[in-house]
Amino acid sequence: MFTPKAHKIDDTTYRITEYDRGHAINMYLLTGSEHALLIDTGLNLTNVPKAIRRITDLPLWVCNTHGHSEQILGNHWYPEVFFPEEDEDVFRKYMQENPSERNSPSGRFGNLIGAVYNPLQDLIRYNRPSEHEDLPEDGFFDLGGRIVGILKTPGHTHGSVSYLDEASGRLFCGDLVGEKEIRVDFEESSPLDVYETTVSLLLGLVEDSKISQLYPSHGNSPLPADILRTAQEVSSMVLKGDYKDSMKITYQGIEFRFRLTGND
Ligand SMILES: [Zn+2]
Repeated sequence: MFTPKAHKIDDTTYRITEYDRGHAINMYLLTGSEHALLIDTGLNLTNVPKAIRRITDLPLWVCNTHGHSEQILGNHWYPEVFFPEEDEDVFRKYMQENPSERNSPSGRFGNLIGAVYNPLQDLIRYNRPSEHEDLPEDGFFDLGGRIVGILKTPGHTHGSVSYLDEASGRLFCGDLVGEKEIRVDFEESSPLDVYETTVSLLLGLVEDSKISQLYPSHGNSPLPADILRTAQEVSSMVLKGDYKDSMKITYQGIEFRFRLTGND
């Protein structure tokens, strides 16, 4: 299994990326003086623990932003994962997905890779399931000289959370927003008004200079915090307008998919 390359954001913050059909899936590693924190575990396409151990030997905490495949399928590598309990049903729905099927390699090297690693992947996944821990009740992780706050940010899924590195103002936001796409249209997404409330509350934190940049799960990272304004505008426009229950529109270069009635 390949070891992914870690991109250094600063001396204590790294982005680890897997590629799913050419699209980047981002995980983030934050270190303090006492603990390291991995935010999301990827699609289980690469050996992420090995990449982490090349960076730090601190005790590792692992957490998820939400229960979709791109965030959870690597959870089995770690004995315990902090998980937002409101998304447990989403986790159960997506944990059985096999990314090796949708990434079935083509070409002679691809076939070789597929033959070698697909069976191994399944063995690892199902032999070592991880336990879920509830997120800390005090609402933050203390990594030692570095506080990472936990914010409930429902919308994309009803249990989605984001993690705020308080000193730097970096918000690790899962699939709350993306550079090219915002999705609030899943069966497990919240009603659109809930998403609109989430982005409005986060915009308040941007205005208070508590959030400066967004670190999403997909594509380019970081994104400017202004993208929350775009998300808020398009949500409120849709909520006021005459739209069908579920559809897709493009607004300021972002494809926005929504359902007006969602799953609380
Ligand atoms: Zn997602």
